Amino acid sequence: MFSMEKEPVREFISAEAIGRRIAELGSAITAGHAPAAELVVVCVLKGPFIFAADLVRHIGRPIRIEFLRASSYGSRRTSSGELSLGCGIDFEVAGCHVLVVEDIVDTGLTLSRIVEELRMLAPASLKICALLDKPSARQVAVDIDYTGFTIPPLYVVGYGLDDAEMHRELPFIGIPAR
Ligand code: 5GP
Repeated sequence: MFSMEKEPVREFISAEAIGRRIAELGSAITAGHAPAAELVVVCVLKGPFIFAADLVRHIGRPIRIEFLRASSYGSRRTSSGELSLGCGIDFEVAGCHVLVVEDIVDTGLTLSRIVEELRMLAPASLKICALLDKPSARQVAVDIDYTGFTIPPLYVVGYGLDDAEMHRELPFIGIPAR
C-alpha cells in the first residue's frame, strides 16, 4: 500500500511490469513501421503523458510528437459520454504515419471520435497504442493495434491516470481505497 497524503492507493500493476511491457510495445511498434517512416505520435492529454514519454524512447523510428486535449470524465469516475476536444488538430496529418497513444480505452467514445477526426485528414496510416484496455465497458468498437494490459472494469489511477487530478504522479497503476 502506497500512502499519499489524501487517500491510499493499492498497487495493481507494478512500475517494473509497466516498464517491461512498454519495452515490448516499443519493439512491436518499431517492427510495424518501415525504417524510413517518420511516426507522428499523438498523445491524447492528459492521461498518457507519462506513458507516451516512456514509450517514444523505445521506438526505433524517427518521431514527431503532437498533443491533443480530450476529456470525457471531468471530475467523475464514469464517462460522461460527451467528449470535448479542448483544441483542434493543429498539426500535419495528411500523408503521415500516425500513432495515437492513449492511457486507457473504456467506452471507446474518446478514441473513436479522435480516430474519426484524424482519418478525415487522410493520414498514410493510423494506428492506436493503448496502455490499458477495459473491454467490458465498450460502447463503440475500436481497433487497438498495440495494447499494454487488458484489465477488468476497475477505476484505476497512477502512471498518468487521475482521480479528479490526483495520483497522476504514482509510478505504478493502482486502485484508490475508497
Ligand atoms: P472512454 O471514452 O473510452 O470511455 O474513456 C477514455 C478516457 O476516460 C481515458 O482516456 C481516461 O481519461 C478516462 N478513463 C477511463 N477509464 C478510466 C479509469 O479507470 N481511470 C481513470 N483515471 N481514467 C479513466
